[in-house]
Amino acid sequence: MSTVSIYDSPGLDQLRRSLKADPLCVRRMRNGLLKQGLPDETALAAFPAPDQVSLHTLELFQRHDSTLDGATKLLFRTADALLIESVILRIASGRTTLCISSQVGCAVACEFCATGKMGLRRNLSSGEMLDQVLQSIQLLAGEGRRLRNIVFMGMGEPLHNEEQLCATLDALTLPELFHFASTRILVSTVGVPDAMLRLAGRYPTMRVALSLHSVDENVRQRLIPLAWKYPLEQLRCTLEELNRRSNAAVMIEYLLLAGVNDSLTNARQLIEWLSGLNVHVNLIPYNSIEEAAGLAGSDEPARTLFAATLKAAGLKTTLRYSLGSDIAAACGQLVRHENRRHHQARRSTSTEVC
Ligand code: SAH
Ligand code: SF4
Repeated sequence: MSTVSIYDSPGLDQLRRSLKADPLCVRRMRNGLLKQGLPDETALAAFPAPDQVSLHTLELFQRHDSTLDGATKLLFRTADALLIESVILRIASGRTTLCISSQVGCAVACEFCATGKMGLRRNLSSGEMLDQVLQSIQLLAGEGRRLRNIVFMGMGEPLHNEEQLCATLDALTLPELFHFASTRILVSTVGVPDAMLRLAGRYPTMRVALSLHSVDENVRQRLIPLAWKYPLEQLRCTLEELNRRSNAAVMIEYLLLAGVNDSLTNARQLIEWLSGLNVHVNLIPYNSIEEAAGLAGSDEPARTLFAATLKAAGLKTTLRYSLGSDIAAACGQLVRHENRRHHQARRSTSTEVC
């Protein structure tokens, strides 16, 4: 029997009419599920033909809870047996953030990133991005928590999957679906100028983060191979344009790597490069990955000095602490680990994940 997706409004309405059911039943089912995070059966009970509605595109494959802090990593399996990951961050203030994936793997191939080391397998559909959100909302509702922020900082480059990203953002913000405030959604990108401007035009209050990591063209290109396509000068012009269009600060992500981009000189160059822009710098500690043997995270004194230098120059700066380091919380790490385990266990079979 064919089923109708919970996100397919015309399809659900047609089904409801064919059943001669109360027009409110669709709204009750969706509100219960997408806004309150009720379990599947409870939400579906509001609809007269629950077996004709499909809710999920992903199967929860594994759940890893950090013993150090409030991070939970969820590994999902797609219908074509690929693994992706989402991370729930329960911050002490009570605010809960969900980090979701937009692609299986990533073509940008950043030197420091486990996802980048996989290459790109495929884009995720909006249904697959939304199911990461839905299953997390349900999990959190079971703990009496509500999801506050959604960040596209998981596997993949969201702006290389623009069409499905926009369909996802539409569904997240639509009142009859998740009704999430766009101010509480952040899309992180390695820097794709045209797409950044299109996104800002379509969702003016949504937050954007640029993964900058270095203001030296050679160093940046070494860390981010695809960076040659978009020179730093073009990225700066894009930030200026985003600032002209919105009062919200653009987040600048800067991974601190020992001996690569963490010296006092590097801090001063960054200050100079960012001067005149409305930005908030987020300094990220490096979660080391096996495939990048030559890279190491900056030590604590270097990180503190770097942050203090930026702050003294008047830049809004946050020194992020690593959450979930015991559950391989850096983007793509757990999937890489699982895939390797899977390959070792099944070397003689032809089934492959990622
Ligand atoms: N592709 C997008 C979004 C996904 S990556 C982007 O690059 O912005 C999200 C963030 O995780 C980026 O800022 C990226 O630099 C960071 N990241 C990737 N690998 C990391 C690692 N090993 N340790 C710490 N941060 C990492
Ligand atoms: Fe892709 Fe972002 Fe990882 Fe770079 S850091 S490889 S852009 S997911």
